[in-house]
Order: sequence, then structure tokens, then C-alpha cells
Amino acid sequence: MSVKKLPFTRDDLERIASRFPTPFHIYDEKTIRGNVRELVRAFAWNEGFKEYFAVKATPNPFILKIMKGEGCGTDCSSLPELLLSEKAGIVGHDIMFTSNDTPAAEYVKARELDAIINLDDISHIPFLERHAGIPDTISVRYNPGKLREGSFIMGSPENAKYGFTREQVLRGLSQLSQKGARRFGLHTFIVSNELNPDCFVTTADMLFDLALEIQEKLGLRVEFVNISGGIGIPYRPEQEKVDLARVGDGIREKYEAKIRKGGLHPVSIFTECGRAMTGPAGFLVSRVLHKKEIYKTHIGVDACMANLMRPGMYGAYHHITVAGKEDRAPDHVYDVTGSLCESIDRFAVDRPLPEIEIGDLVVIHDTGAHGHAMGFNYNGKLRSSELLLRQDGQVVQIRRPETVADYFATLDFNDLGSFRA
Ligand SMILES: *Cc1c(COP(=O)(O)O)cnc(C)c1O
Repeated sequence: MSVKKLPFTRDDLERIASRFPTPFHIYDEKTIRGNVRELVRAFAWNEGFKEYFAVKATPNPFILKIMKGEGCGTDCSSLPELLLSEKAGIVGHDIMFTSNDTPAAEYVKARELDAIINLDDISHIPFLERHAGIPDTISVRYNPGKLREGSFIMGSPENAKYGFTREQVLRGLSQLSQKGARRFGLHTFIVSNELNPDCFVTTADMLFDLALEIQEKLGLRVEFVNISGGIGIPYRPEQEKVDLARVGDGIREKYEAKIRKGGLHPVSIFTECGRAMTGPAGFLVSRVLHKKEIYKTHIGVDACMANLMRPGMYGAYHHITVAGKEDRAPDHVYDVTGSLCESIDRFAVDRPLPEIEIGDLVVIHDTGAHGHAMGFNYNGKLRSSELLLRQDGQVVQIRRPETVADYFATLDFNDLGSFRA
């Protein structure tokens, strides 16, 4: 079981909403820092351990600055994410650049920042050499294919577009070494939102085996293994949080048996968690605008799928609390819906909740990762603000809401006047 509690009361939320209109995402700094510290503690045994926060989960420079303060780097996947990381003061080997189908300009910027480039394909070796040069330190992304199962969001590795085959990892590292690279790392990303801690132990073990094979066949020493992200969070109250200490201890056991025994020590362990760091720290706060009684009762809120896509896109469960009604019985059944002209625009389907009235504040849990970040403008919907609840109780706006002017920013209405239809 996981406890689904709000870090604020209804009165707090009404006070916040009087300064920053709903809908908004609000992130709890204390929870974020706590999650990072728990991860770092789980790997305290590994001297070179580093968490590279997955920027795509919550691409906000204020969040990145908190991560930097906790000693994290960033995992970037695009030029704008590299620039965001740079703005937050995270550069050099504190960035891992994991992209796919990569444009040349992105490799150029990654090299300029001296980010650790994690190649997605063997054909990118000559591509990188031509456009940006081969760096001293390089990583390759391994796709184990049939050897591993995958997950709902990621699909099976064999069908996935990512990474090198095992044979290509060996061939690729040999090429990279011939082209002057001196320090090598391995990366893999197989599962998403996985709650079974043993899965991450198996992943690390698989990379340790590969590192040993590389040592044996190529005589090259792998200096770091990046087990990436994918650590799940208990979106449902009946689910259990991943025991990070158990993940760390399990990986340590494999490390001793393989890496230390095989003479490869020291190897640094890297992670790229997004969801597990910020997910549970975020809440989408929305006000009830309408209550519609047709074949079902629809609670119409002022947020929509443009603010949080996961329920519509994946049918994902997000817990909902009606602020101020935490202790009332969930004796009504509602669909909680947004205003998009799409049937899938529902935050909850047939959800038992306490009786809801117009004007209530509906709080959607676990929106701190892959929430605002996945927002879009379809139907002319504008993305909301992002707020941060600081550790001292202050609430600051870390991104203002979009305006109609933002929505129009890429259009030139002057040209429209002379445009003959
Ligand atoms: C999305 C992604 C992550 C982060 O995934 P989470 O599920 O948020 O932990 C890490 N690494 C790579 C390469 C990714 O694509």
C-alpha cells in the first residue's frame, strides 16, 4: 500500500489558487529531494555513482537546479534539453546525451558542452566522427533483443528501435577505440514504470556480464554502466513503492560477484531516473466547472488532457483527491473529464469519489514526471503554469501559464492581410 496524501490543505490550495489561477501543476520540493537522497543512499557503496536526472520527465530549469544541488547530472535527449541543462549550470560529464535518430547539430552541441555521448546505433560512429569528432569518453546503448522482456510502455526490446545488438556493441567499441576513444561506458533502457526491484538488478547484472565479455574479447575496460531509468511509482494506492535500498543491495551483490571478482573494479553505476524522482512530488490542481448528468455523471474540470496526457494516452491510473473531502466516503461514481474534443480526455473513468460540487478543487496525484512535459496545444488548449512548494512553505511560480499570444507566436498575421485566398 502507498499513502496518497496531499502536502497541503484545501485552504492552502485556495490561497495558492487566488494567486495562480487553476489549473496548475505544483511540485513539492521536499519530496523531490527525499527521493533523490534515497536513491543516492541506496548506491552509497559505489564510489562513482551518479544519478543523471531524465530532463524529459520535468524539463524545468528550477527543477534541474534542485537536482544539481543534490549532486545529480542530467540525461538529455535533444538540443533544447541540452540548452536547458546548460542554463541550469549542468555541463560537461554531468550530462549524458542519449538520443536516437540524432541530427548532427545535436552531436555538435553535446560535444561543445563535453557531455558524455551515448550512441544509439553503430552507424552513428562515422556520423559522429564526421560532424563532431570522436570524444575521449563514449558510451553505447545496448539492446538485448530476445534476451529480455520489456514492459507495457516500452514494448519488447526486440521490437524497439533503440540501441546496438550485442555483436554491434563489441564491434562498435572496437571501432571507437581505433578512432581514439579511451574511456567506455555501457547503457541500456529496457523497462518503463517497473515496480519489481529485481528487474533492475537483472539489468545491472546483464551489463556487468557484457563488461566482462568486452574485457575478455577486446581488452577494453568499461568504466561505467548506466542502468538508466524506468523505476516505477505506485500510481495506485494498492501498489508498493520500489524499495531502492533493495535495488542497490541487489546490484552490489552482483557487482562483487562479477565486477570485483573479474578484476574490473572500479566501475561507476549511473542511473537516469525521471519518474521515480519527481513523479510522486507533483499534483495537477484543477477546479470543477460543470457537473453533467447523462448516462454517466461527468465532472468537468478546468484541466484537460493537454495538461496531463497519461490517462488518455495509456489509460493510466492517477489517483484523485477532492481537496477538503479527504475523510468523506467515496460513495459516488464519476468520470472526471476535460474539455478536449476527444472522448479519451478523461482523468478518471467510473471512479468512486466523495460527492463533488461545482467549485471544488480536484487534485490529480503523481503528475511530477511526464505530466506537464507531455502537454500539447491541440484544440487550442494552453499549457498551465508550474508551481513549486518550497521546503519553507513558500509557493513560487516556476513557469507561467501559456497565453493566447504564445499560441499565436509562430504565426505572422501581417502576412495574412496580403495573403490572397
Ligand atoms: C525516458 C527515459 C528515461 C527516464 O525514464 P523514467 O521512466 O522517467 O525513469 C531515462 N533514460 C532514457 C534513455 C529515457 O528515454
